Amino acid sequence: RAATPLISVRGVEHHYAGVRALSGIDLDVHAGGILGIVGANGAGKSTLGRILHGDLHSTGGTRTVTGTDALRLSLVPEGRALFRTLSVRENLEVAAYAAGISGRRLRTRLEELQHGLPERVRTRMNIPAGSLSGGEQQLVAIARALMADPEVLILDEPALGLSPAMVDEVYSQVNALARRGITTILLDQSLARALESCSEIVVLRQGEVVARGNSGTPGFGQIAEAAYFGTE
Ligand code: ATP
Repeated sequence: RAATPLISVRGVEHHYAGVRALSGIDLDVHAGGILGIVGANGAGKSTLGRILHGDLHSTGGTRTVTGTDALRLSLVPEGRALFRTLSVRENLEVAAYAAGISGRRLRTRLEELQHGLPERVRTRMNIPAGSLSGGEQQLVAIARALMADPEVLILDEPALGLSPAMVDEVYSQVNALARRGITTILLDQSLARALESCSEIVVLRQGEVVARGNSGTPGFGQIAEAAYFGTE
């Protein structure tokens, strides 16, 4: 592709106190679409997601953000990390505070973000976030990440622990955001789910990229599955 990628990493490796989590990662994040980073438990997805986001500095290799350092990135961490005792609204307000949004702009943003939440959450903005279902909390965590109006949104295993119906609801929200032009990076254990939603897929195994492509590539499903499980 001709367009300059938004984020590029080259030769990235990461060690946690002697544990090698990633090695030799080359990856370009292009504007638009959903990039899936897929792999089993411990394959290195969260580590790579945080390095792409920039809150974790890799122990080796380079990360380049194109054009400007002002690229707005938001990460929804695994487990959502909402403030459980704060209300849904307060959770969104904390993100507004962090992004320097207040006054009239805050009220407008809150209204916009509430639109993206299901009716049953919209009507309960003042209850503790911890009393919502897991899927509802995931949707609030996504709304919170959108407060800063990100150009790139990174979602770490948004389906984890959710009922199948809630997984569908969360994924349709993710697809809607991508259609609105937010470049989305989806970390997921499920290759099948990623094949449905993602425009590009990178498969990680034991900290290395072992396959890349998309569901349009003939045979990619099987190639990616073999790479995922190490049976190729
Ligand atoms: P999961 O789906 O379980 O979150 P993952 O694919 O996101 O897995 P990572 O969380 O990036 O993988 O972990 C990659 C490797 O690094 C694993 O072996 C993990 O045990 C190790 N690791 C991750 N975080 C730390 C840490 N803070 N200290 C030591 N080792 C870590």
